[in-house]
Amino acid sequence: MIETKVSKGIISTYFEKLERNLDLDVAIVGGGPSGIVAAYYLAKAGLKVAQFDRKLAPGGGMWGGAMMFNQIVIQEEAIDIVKEFNINHEKYEDGLYVMDSVESTSALLYHAVHAGATVFNCYSVEDVIFKNNTVSGVVVNWTPVLREGMHVDPLNILAKIVIDGTGHDSEIAATVARNHFGGNWRTFTGCNCRRGRGCKRYEGNLSGTLRLRYGCFRRFGHSAYGTDLWRNVDVR
Ligand SMILES: Cc1cc2nc3c(=O)[nH]c(=O)nc-3n(C[C@H](O)[C@H](O)[C@H](O)COP(=O)(O)OP(=O)(O)OC[C@H]3O[C@@H](n4cnc5c(N)ncnc54)[C@H](O)[C@@H]3O)c2cc1C
Repeated sequence: MIETKVSKGIISTYFEKLERNLDLDVAIVGGGPSGIVAAYYLAKAGLKVAQFDRKLAPGGGMWGGAMMFNQIVIQEEAIDIVKEFNINHEKYEDGLYVMDSVESTSALLYHAVHAGATVFNCYSVEDVIFKNNTVSGVVVNWTPVLREGMHVDPLNILAKIVIDGTGHDSEIAATVARNHFGGNWRTFTGCNCRRGRGCKRYEGNLSGTLRLRYGCFRRFGHSAYGTDLWRNVDVR
């Protein structure tokens, strides 16, 4: 029966994919442009990378341009990344280029997956796993489970590196600070990650294994730091 075959095809291959990704080099929380660009370069460098986004359609804040006008403006400094992702772009003014935000977001996702990263949508990361005082993975649950407030246990995914790509809220950095440091966590940059809140620019390093750099992969228009993070990640 075709109906059964379709169901089996989805179920069996999905769980194979999930099982393959239970032990990672890098877990990326958040599927916005920052996280996707990180996923692409890390996967391309041969690391086992999975990205978890709570939404049905990853892409973060990039789909809608500004006020849902689906164009984005990027700075010259990021043009190498744009070319690497083969995104159509036009010069607008000196040092500025414009691109279609839908094409750009889908191109980022397409190339990240083709480079070998696995994207899990509808996954919310609730917490990180600590082993020997070192961040060693993420605790995940279905977004609808959390949204409905259902009493369902999460699952654990181990990772050598956890990257916070959750955008403005720096959710993972804030969760680490709240759950594991009782509130404040002072970082190298002097930025304080406070209870329940992220911070604007963030760099943290805990026992040399957790490196969170919120702000590095902001939308191209704002920043040219798209390559900073993957170059600075130390995989142990
Ligand atoms: C009002 C407003 C105006 C802005 N204007 C500009 C602008 O003009 N230029 C510009 O460059 N930028 C602008 N930004 C910022 C823009 O949103 C970011 O530059 C860009 O989207 C940041 O990309 P990101 O990947 O860091 O985060 P985001 O695009 O925000 O992506 C974060 C992703 O993480 C996911 N996520 C969050 N928490 C979790 C979790 N616990 N588990 C799983 N997934 C999670 C979210 O679903 C989301 O997909 C604006 C933002 C706002 C709010």
